[in-house]
Amino acid sequence: MSMTGRELKEAIKEGVTPLVRALERSAKANEELLDIAKQETVQMEAEAGPPVCPNCGVVNPTVYSSEQAGSGPLAESVYQFEMHCCNASVWAIPEGWVFARTAAEAAEAIDYRRAGVTA
Ligand SMILES: [Zn+2]
Repeated sequence: MSMTGRELKEAIKEGVTPLVRALERSAKANEELLDIAKQETVQMEAEAGPPVCPNCGVVNPTVYSSEQAGSGPLAESVYQFEMHCCNASVWAIPEGWVFARTAAEAAEAIDYRRAGVTA
């Protein structure tokens, strides 16, 4: 039982075609997963990005705060600010904390964040 060159070509084509189709399906699935991952990333960046004034939409607005004295659980801390952008009062509830043991470490953390915000 021997094959001609043409028969051999056909046999290879028949064997390869399903493999190519499977690879195409896999590539399409990977692209879809990548799109989903990109959307998730954008959403997370939006949540973790620079703060936005809830009244006028200014990004990373300058605020005034009269240092409020008082004590209570850290997780329930609320900060009142006067917004320079639109003079509104807002109450801010931090979703996470970055702790520093010294003022210098705190300044370093702010520099790091600033670099991330402008990058
Ligand atoms: Zn504002």
